[in-house]
Order: sequence, then structure tokens, then C-alpha cells
Amino acid sequence: MAALVLDLLSNRPSTQVAGFLLLLAVALAAYLGGFWPGLVGTVLATLSLDFFFTPPRHHFIPDSGGEAAGVALFFVVALLISQLFEHRRFVQRQAEAASARANRLQAITAKLAEAVTPQQVLDAVVTEGVEAAEARAGAIGLLMPDGETIEIVAARGYEQRVFVGWETFPLVAETPMGAAIRERKPFFFETSADRDAAFPSIAGVGGPSHALAILPLVVEGRAIGGIAFTFPTEVHFDAERRALKTTLAQHAAQALDRVRLYEAERAQRLRMTFLADASELLGSSLDYETTLSQLARLAVPEMATWCSVDILGPDGSIQRLAVAHEDPERVSWAESLGEEYPPDPDAPMGVPNVIRTMTAEFFPDITDDLLVEAAQGDERLLEIVRELGLRSAITVPLVARGRALGALSLIRDEGAPRYTELDLDLASELARRSASAVDNASLYREAERRGDASRALAHVDDGVVLLDQDGAVVSFNPAAARILGVDDSALVGETAVGAIGGWSEIEENAKPEPGDTRGPVTLPLVQSDGDERWISVSGVDFGDGVVYALRDVTEERRLERARSDFVATASHELRTPLAAVLGAVKTLRRDDVSFEPEQREELMEMIDREAERLSGIVAQILLTGQLDAGRLPLQVERFDPVALTQDVVDSAELHLPNGIELRVEAPDDIPPVAGDANQLRQVISNLVDNAIKYSPQGGDVELRLNQNGQFARIEVVDAGLGIPRDEHERIFEKFYRLDPALTRGVNGTGLGLYISKELVERMNGRISVDSEPGRGSTFVVEVPLAV
Ligand code: ADP
Repeated sequence: MAALVLDLLSNRPSTQVAGFLLLLAVALAAYLGGFWPGLVGTVLATLSLDFFFTPPRHHFIPDSGGEAAGVALFFVVALLISQLFEHRRFVQRQAEAASARANRLQAITAKLAEAVTPQQVLDAVVTEGVEAAEARAGAIGLLMPDGETIEIVAARGYEQRVFVGWETFPLVAETPMGAAIRERKPFFFETSADRDAAFPSIAGVGGPSHALAILPLVVEGRAIGGIAFTFPTEVHFDAERRALKTTLAQHAAQALDRVRLYEAERAQRLRMTFLADASELLGSSLDYETTLSQLARLAVPEMATWCSVDILGPDGSIQRLAVAHEDPERVSWAESLGEEYPPDPDAPMGVPNVIRTMTAEFFPDITDDLLVEAAQGDERLLEIVRELGLRSAITVPLVARGRALGALSLIRDEGAPRYTELDLDLASELARRSASAVDNASLYREAERRGDASRALAHVDDGVVLLDQDGAVVSFNPAAARILGVDDSALVGETAVGAIGGWSEIEENAKPEPGDTRGPVTLPLVQSDGDERWISVSGVDFGDGVVYALRDVTEERRLERARSDFVATASHELRTPLAAVLGAVKTLRRDDVSFEPEQREELMEMIDREAERLSGIVAQILLTGQLDAGRLPLQVERFDPVALTQDVVDSAELHLPNGIELRVEAPDDIPPVAGDANQLRQVISNLVDNAIKYSPQGGDVELRLNQNGQFARIEVVDAGLGIPRDEHERIFEKFYRLDPALTRGVNGTGLGLYISKELVERMNGRISVDSEPGRGSTFVVEVPLAV
């Protein structure tokens, strides 16, 4: 065309110039348009050269053979030039494509170098595909540590539902990726029909896709996974495409291996740091409740999305000690959920099962089946756990000294990587350290509690004796040593029956059946020094032995005894004068007997005397009651003790038995005393009555008065029965009377001396006795002088 234009412009150009220009036009057409335009240009140029420039002009048949050969030569040359340019063009295009490819690969390599997750690796590779208008989507599957399962670790460009149910699948399954990994060779399917024909089992899976390339990811001869590229159209995989995809797969494999190493190293570093921090925490305090709560918090979010610690209570119940999650609201939610669904100790899986069997539960993948099983038919619970999107879980028992103390649970949700065997190892180690921390804390608390208990026991008045199952003494408190009358150092480890006098009686009466309690029973116990004590004993068998509680009830028993003795004595005491009075009255009222006036007088006197005695007894009892109630007023006055003593003696003289003589010895200069005269009269009268009563053989009763410092001293001395030395104190006790054998059956209430002592002491005076059996008694009363 260009040659034609030139021809028209130059009007009569030569054939050579025209031929040259036409060749140029052909070259230009081939250069700009490629092979086909070059060919069209060649044909057109040859025709125009023949028609316009080769004689005869305007005619296609050349004049001579030489001109025909010239046109033919021109055609060949034009064709060659056209080819030449086309080739140059092709070479240039290839160079450009190679350079573009190199650029793209370099970009990918740069991106891959930065990738730290499988998803980033995939993105780097797939984005390249998208940029090159190639792959529409891609996915990376990696072989799991078991070497038998493929896990899709990254996917881009697929509809979400594509991988539902295909998150993991067995290597042996008839899938293109499985085959690529197994056989370590790539598969290229130009159409989906090709793919379905090769792998009928997945026909239709993944929706309408077209071409598919699946390549193994191989590192150092090992297939670590596979990479899939899905194309929006059918694709012809020429050698170049295949090579490119293979190169991409190689790069991706290297990057993934590096990512994996990096991940593994990071995870391991995380585990180690966590374990170190946790150990430090566990060793920091004996308050294990707080420590374990802090530990649970330490575990989130790196080690777990959820971390909980459950503790086995003493009654076998399971208590949630701590639950941790990054979001405090989730924690409160979990706590209320925990209250709503308290753990069933018999549950076949989960924390109760781990505690019961002392075996860890490890679920690298929480499947829906597992959730269904765990929910145990509770639809609402199932819905809740499904919504949580849990991925992986580890529950390990806290075991110390062969006993399960609780369980530690780590759970990750779908945003976090699944747990591996390494995590299980870590959790087990953590559980071991936690359990020993809990155990140490419990032991310490127990020791402290025991320390407290033994401190308390050291101060209680009740005796406590702990025996082991063989009856050997494990421990006992000071009160027990006192009650049992034993040395408190040498007993531990000895058999109680052999080491403690009277223990066999205690065991006989108070030893409980295993796991039972017995008593209390009251027994006499003769101490090693021969002292008899009454003890109340009860025994409790607590499995590892028996604990006996002992109480010294000698005093209570004595009082009790004294009280009942008093009732007997008082009734006896009252009955004697009453009987005499009644007898006299009945006698006097007899019609059939006529009495002499003297006889009548005698009977009346007896009535008078006995009534007096009766009233005396009643008065003593009433007085005792008043003294005990603190209701007896004290009227302090100045009076002459000698006159008062003489008065008492004068009254006593009135009904003095035969064989007794009363005498008062007193100097003239005894100063007056300060006190309640009536009460002192009562005291001296008691002492004189006793001196007479307990001198059945008769004898002198002397009352000696003198001054002893700031006191007037009144001694009542008899030559009667006397009192053993060890009874000197006790005769002043309420209701206390000497053995009737010693008193030769003399009646009394045992209140006289008690009342006397109380009255004298209220006057700030004192009373005592000096006596020996058979040698009479001297009672001494001292009352303060009036100032
Ligand atoms: P009772 O009513 O029995 O006399 P008391 O309290 O006056 O009660 O005396 C207590 C006991 O002390 C008496 O039972 C008696 O055994 C002994 N006793 C008191 N006075 C004498 C005494 N003078 N001589 C011998 N024993 C005495």
C-alpha cells in the first residue's frame, strides 16, 4: 500500500526504488503487525510491484521471464524480511515475558520471605496467579504431624462452604491433593470434566470450577503438603505454565517449611516462657487458690483461649476454682454457665472423667460429634458449645502423691492453632507442678492447722489422747497426762495399754467400733501413785486410729456424791427429832394413860429440845442457801469476844450431856473485836456443839481466848475423836463429813464447819484446825480487833 502511495507521489519512480520502498513497507508491516500482516504486505507488495512497476505496466503477466523472476525474487525477499521481523518480534516478546516472569517471581519471593503464616504464603502465591489472570483461587493443605491427615491451612478465593467438612481429610482419600502428596507429582486438569473423570469421588465438590492444578509441596525430598490453583476458565497447561506453577510450588514449599519451623520455634519458646512464668508463680505463694487463678489468667490468650482449673473438694464434689478468658465478660458468662451446669462427678468425659481416671483427655480437633457427646442430650448446652467455635482441648489431671486433686483445662477456639502433642506435654508438666504446689500448700495448711490444734489442745482442760490403729500413743496433751497421772515425755510410741495404768478399762468401756464413736462413760481410774480419780471418757475412731477425750470428773462426782449424801443425811437428821417430837405428842395425847406432871414436863421438854434441833438443822440449810446466794447481810459492830464466848458457853451448859465440862479461859485485857456478833456467836456455837458431839466419851471442852496481833484468837479445844490430818481442809467443805466409822455414827449435816468458815472469812477472819485421831481437836478462830 505504502509502495502504491509512493509511486503515485513520485509519478514515475524506477522499479528498483519501488522494489526497495515496497520491501520497507513489508518490513514495517511485519515489525508492527507480526507474521500475518507481514504476509499480507508481502503479497500486496509483490502484486503492486508486478502490476505497477514491472513492464508491461498495469498488467499482471510480465513481459519476460527475467521480469517474472524479478517479481518472484521480490516475493521471496519480502517474505523473508517479513519472517525475519516476525522472528525478531517473537524473540523480543519472549524476552519481555521472561523478564515479567522473573519480576513476578521476584515479587513473590519477596512476599514469601516476609510470610510468617501459611495464609500469607498462599496469598503471596495466589495473588501472583490472579495478577497474571491465571488462578482464581488457591488452597494449601499440609500433612499433619500424624503423617496421615491433610489439613487445609489456608484458602483464598473460594466460597466458604467449599471446605465445610473438608478442613481435614485422610491422605489416602481419593482426592487430587492426596494423590499429589502421596505420589509427589503435580496434577493438571484442563477442565472440570477431566478432574471428575480422574477423581470421581469428589465430582461436584467445590462447585463449578474449571481448570485445576494441584502440586505437591516438597522440601528436601519430603512432601509436606500440596497446593491447589483453581482457574475461572478452562486452561491449556503448556510447558511454560506447568513450569511456572512448579516453581511457585517449590517456593511455597520452602516458605511453608520455614514458616513451620518459625511457628514451631515460636510455639516452643512460648511454651517454655509460659512454663517458666507459671513455675515462678506457683512457687511464689502458698495461697494456691489465688495462684491457680493467676496461672489460668497467665495461660490466656497465648496458650489457650479458655483456661480453667477445677479442684476436688473433700466431699468429692468438683469446684471450679478459676476460669480465664481474655474478655472479662466472657469469664462472667462462663462462671454463670458453670453454676447452671455444675459438673456431674460421674460424667463419662471432661473434667470429672479426668479426675476420676487420673488420665488426660486430649482432643486436637473438637469435632461436632464430640460436642454432641459432651452435651449429653442437652440441646441448649449443645447450641452454646457449638457457638463457642472450639477447636482443640486438653484436660490434664492434677495428681500429687497418687491422689487426684483436680484438673487443668486448656481450650483453643477456631482463631488459634490446634494443640499438638508438645502442648499436651506442656500441660502435663504444668499440671504436675500445679498439683505439687496445691499439695504443698495443703500440707502446709494442715501442718499449721495441726499446730493450731496442738496449741489449743495444750491449753484445754480436757485430756486428748490419740492412738494409732495398733493402739500405740501418737500424741496426747498435758491435760491427759495430768488426768492419767503419767509422765508426758515417755509415752509416745508406747502401747497405751502397757504404758498407762488403767488404760485397759478405758479401752474396754470406751473403744469405738471402726468409724464409730462411743461414750462418754464415767470410770474410776487408779493413777500410778494410787490416787483414784473419776474420769469421763469417749472415743472416736477416725480411720487411722482412735482419739480419746478424757475429763476429770472426780470433783463433780464428789460434789454429786456429797449432795446425795446430804439428802440422805438431812432426811435422817430431820427424821430423828421429828420422830421424837411425834412420839412425845402421841404419848401426851393418849387418853388411856394419865401422866404425872413431871412426866408431862419431861415430854414437853423433849418436844422443845427436838424441835429446837429441827429448827437448828433447817436454819443451817437455809443459811447455807443464803450464803451460796450471797444474800446474807453482814452487820459489823464492836463487841467483846470474851462476853460473847461466855454467852455461848452458858447456853450450851443448859443441855450439856453427862461427862462433858465446859471451861472458858480468857485474860481480862482482850480488846473488842469488829464483826457481826450474831454470826460469830453462830460460829463458836457450832464449834462448841461439835466439840461436845465428837467427844462421845466425854471430857473437857476448853475455850481459850487471847490476842494474836491484830486478831482476837478463840480456841475451842476438845479431847474427843480427833480428825485425820489429810481431812483437815475438807471438813470445811460443804456437806463434807468424815467417815461414819471415824465419827462413830454421830449425826450431822456436814454444813456446820462450812458455814463457820464462810462467816469467819466474811468478817476478814480465819479458821483452822489442829487435830489427830484419838487426841482431840483444836479449832482456832481469829477475828480482827476493832480499831
Ligand atoms: P457435822 O454436821 O457433820 O458436824 P460439820 O461441818 O460441823 O458437820 O463438821 C464436819 C465434819 O468434821 C464432821 O462430820 C466431823 O467428822 C468432823 N468434825 C468436826 N468437828 C469435829 C471435832 N471437834 N472432832 C472431831 N471431828 C470433828
